[in-house]
Amino acid sequence: MMFRDIPGHADIKTRLTEMADAGRLPHALLLEGPAGSGKFMLARALAQYVHCEHPSGGDSCGQCPSCLQHSTFNHIDTIFSFPVIKKAGKPTISADYFEEFKELMAENPFMDGEVWGQKFDSANTQTKIYVDEGAELTRRLNFRAHQSRYKIVLLWQPERMNEDTANKMLKIIEEPHDDTLFIMSSDNPRTILPTIYSRTQRVTVKRYEDSEVAEYLTRCHAVSADAAENIARLSSGNINEALSLIKISKARKLFLDLFIDLMRKAYQRKIGLLRQWSVDVAGLGREQSLAFLDYCARMIRENFILNLNIDGLNYLTPEERAFSVNFARFINERNVLRLFDVINNARTDIAGNTNAKIVFFDLAIKTILLLKA
Ligand SMILES: [Zn+2]
Repeated sequence: MMFRDIPGHADIKTRLTEMADAGRLPHALLLEGPAGSGKFMLARALAQYVHCEHPSGGDSCGQCPSCLQHSTFNHIDTIFSFPVIKKAGKPTISADYFEEFKELMAENPFMDGEVWGQKFDSANTQTKIYVDEGAELTRRLNFRAHQSRYKIVLLWQPERMNEDTANKMLKIIEEPHDDTLFIMSSDNPRTILPTIYSRTQRVTVKRYEDSEVAEYLTRCHAVSADAAENIARLSSGNINEALSLIKISKARKLFLDLFIDLMRKAYQRKIGLLRQWSVDVAGLGREQSLAFLDYCARMIRENFILNLNIDGLNYLTPEERAFSVNFARFINERNVLRLFDVINNARTDIAGNTNAKIVFFDLAIKTILLLKA
């Protein structure tokens, strides 16, 4: 991670690199600020900068062996420490989950605790930094740095330490080896245990401006300027939130295309094309198939309301409305309830693992008959 890969925060980048250049980095630095503001990216970029063999112009070089190791999360003197789920009867340390962590961070460097927590698929268990992690870090920090001046611990979400862990960590944070740096990042600094918090030097990272979020979305995620502006406004400076809104709007666009396809081909009685359509929809997989059926039910409902001419009850995006103004007249008192039934039955079948291609083809055939009603 290079500083130039991170949107905005010019002032903080300068401050951090100047501290590093002057040899004034504290042994425990905390980047604190709201979710989705790129704090952990700044932490990673700073670690790479400190380790880089040829830093220049306020950034690492991106090409030396150290930078290359950093780019794959494999720098030998860098330790990632983060909250995880307890393993029954075994010491629980970050290293056991490092592959998954790397994968998700590489996919979305703005990843937050919520996304990480979902990975564990255990709704009632919060991720924590357990006391075993404190012991493990103490052990690893007892070795000298292998190839660099500093060993760096990148500590994500220090607020997830419990008291035992904090006590264990305290000694290595309070009286660190002279070659050790802790760089922490937190969305919730107020919940960090005071014993740890008071020993850090803090740098506050501000939320992104809407214009910075929009610029990032257009530049790095090929989102149109209009859409980027809308999404930025909805995400309150949280880039992670903006990225999940993009995912939702992409899925919605795909669902709309499939819905339009179904209705057009059913109206034209194109059985062969509907067979292919069923194969395509089944290819979405079970979860997305169910989400698509919910979407179909919603569109039928909205079109029925549109047909009844009840304004103000309608919740359609501009794209959905463009199709619906002509289509709504086909959804009426004679077929609306039966269409809901057909969709609901398909939902039950898919949820019960019936062959999705058959379920969707059956839905398509029934739609042909019901559109003529
Ligand atoms: Zn370098």
